[in-house]
Amino acid sequence: MIIVMKPNAAKESVNAITNYIEGKGLQAHLSEGTEVTIIGVVGDKTKLSQDSIMSYKDVQKIVPVTESYKLTNKQFHPEPSIIKVGNTEIGSNNLTIMAGPCAVETEQQLLSIAHAALAGGANILRGGAYKPRTSPYAFQGLEEEGLRYMQEAKAETGLSTICEVVSLDAINAAVKYVDMIQIGARNMQNFYLLKEAGKSGLPVLLKRGLCATIDEWLNAAEYIIAEGNPNVVLCERGIRTYETATRNTLDISAVPVLKEKTHLPVIVDPSHSTGSYKYVPSMAKAAVACGADGLMIEVHNDPANALSDGPQSLTFKRFNQLCKELHPFADLVGRKF
Ligand code: PEP
Ligand code: MN
Repeated sequence: MIIVMKPNAAKESVNAITNYIEGKGLQAHLSEGTEVTIIGVVGDKTKLSQDSIMSYKDVQKIVPVTESYKLTNKQFHPEPSIIKVGNTEIGSNNLTIMAGPCAVETEQQLLSIAHAALAGGANILRGGAYKPRTSPYAFQGLEEEGLRYMQEAKAETGLSTICEVVSLDAINAAVKYVDMIQIGARNMQNFYLLKEAGKSGLPVLLKRGLCATIDEWLNAAEYIIAEGNPNVVLCERGIRTYETATRNTLDISAVPVLKEKTHLPVIVDPSHSTGSYKYVPSMAKAAVACGADGLMIEVHNDPANALSDGPQSLTFKRFNQLCKELHPFADLVGRKF
């Protein structure tokens, strides 16, 4: 449930209710917006008396939260969250562009892509060092060496960095080198990994599982936030449907649905959702137009010889062109880029 306080409620009233809730062994999460203060309650509500709560000063109303995810819920936190990542932020008026190779392959490859990403207008460099590949014989990533190259690319370009993690070892390595960690589609319901990501203290990009409903996805986000890490960003990357013309089906309507259900920022990955560089520009524009907070785009210096996801990777020229074409779409929704 949430307890909505009257406008301009006194701090003492908020504290008194918080003490009552915590005294009963439940958690009270405060959301102080410009308009209204809300106290979100997590725990066994049967231990609380609604009459007692209503008898406290400055309480306006009690609203039940029926969804199983609470901290992720927009009712708990009506203002959109802005997540700080290195020297940039996601969810503000700025349009976030994450760009980079599917996999970090060599130091030279990453540095050249990082410079191209920066030139196009990206603010976050992506690069996989731990690759969860469908085949065990496919390139599995450079692991810690790849993370070191990410750190070097950040030092050269000033771009913030994100890297996928697939294990606790990977998380422990990533915290030393990058600004944000990514939980990939295949691990969206790896609850152990979600909890460890929550404990890492780094902002987390949580991709949607291949067959996950929006409800399951928001519950996965809840696992991370419940560990005390509120810095979660959601990434729609396409879902499995019967359609085979594209690698996955981009659920573009997930953007407005999520905007209604959660305060977390939402970004869209037109690369993994379509699987083809040809469809990336139109889906990127659609995502910006419908209110996404940003994009994740795969860019490669030589897509034909990429060690993973070459067919969906943009060349430097195509990435640059797309960024130019995105400007009017960003203007349309009032985002700076
Ligand atoms: C990736 O971003 O490189 C990746 C593997 O994405 P996903 O988890 O969405 O398949
Ligand atoms: Mn990829």
